[in-house]
Amino acid sequence: MTEKAEAVRGRQAHGVGPVRPLPDRRAHEIFEECARATPSAIAAVHRGTRWTYAELDAAANRVAGALLSAGLRPEGVVSVISHRSLDWLAAMLGIFKAGGAYLPIDPAYPDERIADLLHRSGSRLALVEDDVSERPLKEAAVRALPLAPAAAVEAQPAATVARVGDGALAYIYFTSGSTGAPKGAACEHAGMLNHLLAKIDTFEIAAGTAVAQTASQCFDISLWQALAPLLVGGSTVIIDPELMLDVPALLALLAAENVGVLQLVPSYLDVIVSRLERGDRAPDSLRMLGVTGEAVSPQVLTRWFKQCPDVPVVNAYGATEASDDTTHEVIRGMADDEQVTVGVPIANVLVDVVGEDGLPVADDSVGEITFSGVCVGRGYINDPERTAEAFGDDPVRPGLRRYRTGDYGHWLSDGRLRFVGRRDEQVKISGVRVEVGEVEAQLLRVAGVRAACVIVMPDGASKRLAGFYTAEQAIPTVRELLADRLPTQLVPRTLRWLPEFPLTDNGKVDKRALAELETSSA
Ligand code: ADP
Repeated sequence: MTEKAEAVRGRQAHGVGPVRPLPDRRAHEIFEECARATPSAIAAVHRGTRWTYAELDAAANRVAGALLSAGLRPEGVVSVISHRSLDWLAAMLGIFKAGGAYLPIDPAYPDERIADLLHRSGSRLALVEDDVSERPLKEAAVRALPLAPAAAVEAQPAATVARVGDGALAYIYFTSGSTGAPKGAACEHAGMLNHLLAKIDTFEIAAGTAVAQTASQCFDISLWQALAPLLVGGSTVIIDPELMLDVPALLALLAAENVGVLQLVPSYLDVIVSRLERGDRAPDSLRMLGVTGEAVSPQVLTRWFKQCPDVPVVNAYGATEASDDTTHEVIRGMADDEQVTVGVPIANVLVDVVGEDGLPVADDSVGEITFSGVCVGRGYINDPERTAEAFGDDPVRPGLRRYRTGDYGHWLSDGRLRFVGRRDEQVKISGVRVEVGEVEAQLLRVAGVRAACVIVMPDGASKRLAGFYTAEQAIPTVRELLADRLPTQLVPRTLRWLPEFPLTDNGKVDKRALAELETSSA
């Protein structure tokens, strides 16, 4: 260790998750053990169809058999071009069993984008739904296999498949990338399993627990929602995207399926809470709610606890590049003026807040958040340049890999981490450093505001802020109220009311759409 690294070591009061040895089995092997122990327990539900552990395991074995017969090599990337379904779940497990790496691709993408992702990932095999166009597959020279191979394909018993190692590639998720070119974050089995076990612990998932699978297959949180319950005898309840648009129907399904664990992005939580406030009923079965993916406001949490005082909220923070979430905070109550934190590191994960030099900052100073340890993925597939920009060696703990998030945060004195904002959202306006998160927080304090989003817009050679909020109706005094609380430079030039925010496929606020709206109505 260098002298400098030695010197900063003393500064690190926080950021080290508990050490917990990982089991000597991969996630799919733990699922197989469950399937042997409780073959007739329900593993997965979709549109009223129920698969037992034995059925799901058999379907996954058929997939593994088909892939190996088609010549899949260890770590070969298998694209799954399909909607979420029971067969999709079996495809994921089958790929792991066969030693391949899973890459989800949305069949609704334009052909050109599908071909591009296949090409970037180096995928040679794809499991595809019936009605997927062959054009992009041909263009990328990828062999297509049916999503659910016929029973005639010799099922591959797990024992005959070469054992998948800890460090083997497990999956790839493409994120849009700030330059517009997609980046394929590639993660390994150990990081995936570590995260699954953390979710099982924090959400107290056990035999019989039903977990809602709400997220798009192209958003990495779909992975834990689908797989975590399957490692402990629980079940996953796949929820179609259409249902997410119909809250009463969604709540009814959650109740009918006895769902105990539900995870949402904060923008969607606002939608649900608004319905509960109008008299819809939360399912009695719900025991834990998760939020992730973007900052959650204290206001929406306060409103949640008014409706569901006994259902704790887990705020989970992380990044696709680091096997999903790296910190968890279990919140059991909230006051409007309280600070939301993202909690403490999960097991086997190290979180630092670092300065420009890459070394931990003093005490509670704001810096960039980094992750080290088993969670850190391999980087961006076939993209060494962008990998080198974000991934590297941990300077304080030689031998560990580190991922730089581009997020800013700081430690609270009690060891919890606070997320402040993203590096690319920090701007200087008339020389004043502006965090959009701070402006959003003030906007949320205005009575009647349900959700707030502030974006940075170009303004000639300079920049300006554009603010958006959702509320029952436009609030004429919003500018005045903000001006009372913020320095002039921080008051957005425009403040627009919307009945609700446009959302991305992942359910986060669609900031690009807001920017377009701002440009078109300027
Ligand atoms: P994830 O799958 O964990 O949501 P993504 O890769 O889609 O990860 O996005 C990661 C980024 O999302 C983080 O770097 C951070 O900016 C933001 N983010 C994720 N979770 C939270 C959270 N709980 N609070 C605030 N921001 C979050």
